[in-house]
Amino acid sequence: MAGPPQTWTILAVLKWTTRYFQDKGVSEPRASAEVLLAHVLGLSRLELYLRHDQPLTPEELAAYKALIRRRVRGEPTAYLTGHKEFWSLDFLVSPATLIPRPETELLVESLLEVLRGRQFGAEVPPAPPGAGEQNRPGIPLLGLEVGVGSGAVIIALARELPRWRWLGVELSAPALEVARTNAARLGVAPRVQFIQGNLLGFLKPGPWFQAVAANLPYVPARDWATLPVEIREYEPREALWGGEDGLALVKPFCAEVHRFLAPGGWLAVEVGQGQAEAVRASLSDTRAYEGIATLRDYQGIPRVVRARRQPA
Ligand code: GLN
Repeated sequence: MAGPPQTWTILAVLKWTTRYFQDKGVSEPRASAEVLLAHVLGLSRLELYLRHDQPLTPEELAAYKALIRRRVRGEPTAYLTGHKEFWSLDFLVSPATLIPRPETELLVESLLEVLRGRQFGAEVPPAPPGAGEQNRPGIPLLGLEVGVGSGAVIIALARELPRWRWLGVELSAPALEVARTNAARLGVAPRVQFIQGNLLGFLKPGPWFQAVAANLPYVPARDWATLPVEIREYEPREALWGGEDGLALVKPFCAEVHRFLAPGGWLAVEVGQGQAEAVRASLSDTRAYEGIATLRDYQGIPRVVRARRQPA
């Protein structure tokens, strides 16, 4: 990398880095340049532009150049900064967690659409005057997420549904640590419990949950070699690898999960491209659901399969 010939301002260094990232084939070159510089300077991306004339100190420049080198070698921007935005919230991430994907917001939306304002079982009495939504008496609403990673999905759901409690299961101990920290930082720790476990093996079947979300590993073996280096070499393989057809975990999960859903409860599962039909079929085979829908992401790709457990 050629050294800077003069004093570098924020704007000049951003332009240079964007160009360099472009030449090196780094994805989202401008955004990556901005996010990394904002991180080094302790500023927001907006503040970079408000201070575009500000020169970088030699120390700042050295720190930035070190990150640029790592990014060009393939390290994801989110691991370099330790942060990733999801659902307009700031999540901590580490190499032990998958980086939350924008399309996974659909998993959150797909459940919010059906759970908002929902009351299961007996009528929930109206809130006494002055009582907050959170203190409202009624049937406890319990949701489950299997494979929480950084906690992005379960924490977004918990923030949006203040009357619900959530249980998050994750096999990876270091990922659980990150998820717990995120729940605390984002103010939902009292309503979100995390436990270490493998899929549904941690619990006896029973009608425990009014909602279940899952974004399990689903990358098929044949796609592995074509994954970008930043995913294949840096993100946790156990969060991505879905065996021969990509459904090595998703299918057994779909065959079992109805045993854990309350009557009338909702299930939402994220799927990879081309997998929706197979996942619908696994759910349909159980004869436990009254309706199964496929939802498309903003790119038009079938991304979430949602189903409702038959009411009692
Ligand atoms: N969407 C992720 C990817 O493309 C895969 C996530 C997963 O396996 N659940 O890398």
